[in-house]
Amino acid sequence: MTPQAESVIQLFRATGAYLEGHFRLTSGLHSPNYLQCALVLRHADAAEKMGRALAEALRQTVQEPISLVVSPALGGVIIGHEVARALGVPFLFTERDPATRAMQLRRGFTIQPGETAVVVEDVITTGGSTVETIQAVTALGARVLAAGSIMDRSGGKAEVGVPRVALATLEVEAFAPESCPLCRQGLPVVKPGSRPA
Ligand code: ZN
Repeated sequence: MTPQAESVIQLFRATGAYLEGHFRLTSGLHSPNYLQCALVLRHADAAEKMGRALAEALRQTVQEPISLVVSPALGGVIIGHEVARALGVPFLFTERDPATRAMQLRRGFTIQPGETAVVVEDVITTGGSTVETIQAVTALGARVLAAGSIMDRSGGKAEVGVPRVALATLEVEAFAPESCPLCRQGLPVVKPGSRPA
């Protein structure tokens, strides 16, 4: 693990954002750990520091100037904003249309054809939200140069169709309930967010 990854994970642990126990993920799978990014990002200085680091990693990955940062709401909004601040470019976010569930720009956000974007999330697991955000802004004429996240829970495997960076990469440990070793030990399973951390 790189020193940067270690310091990011340490920051998560110190702020209670890296939860260890027995969790039921949104997917229905059980996991011994869970990342609650909102808990680390509530500290504006930590968010700013990680935003600067991610901006630097993105800058080193792309060959041309970045003209905007786009994030999927809600998870990507705080870190995306900090990356945009560090890059000195505007920040937009996509939201799901309540009726169609399609990811789209709302609130009067516009993109000019030819703009160069990076897409930023808090955590990438499958890359699904990043891919949907890339599609939404590409459809409006932007070129997405790269994607970034604070954490990569895919162990580096998530493919989003553009170069991708993360401050820390973890291998997701998840089990079907019927083959979960924590269930076998009789540990009660917790839905993250359902209790104070
Ligand atoms: Zn379990």
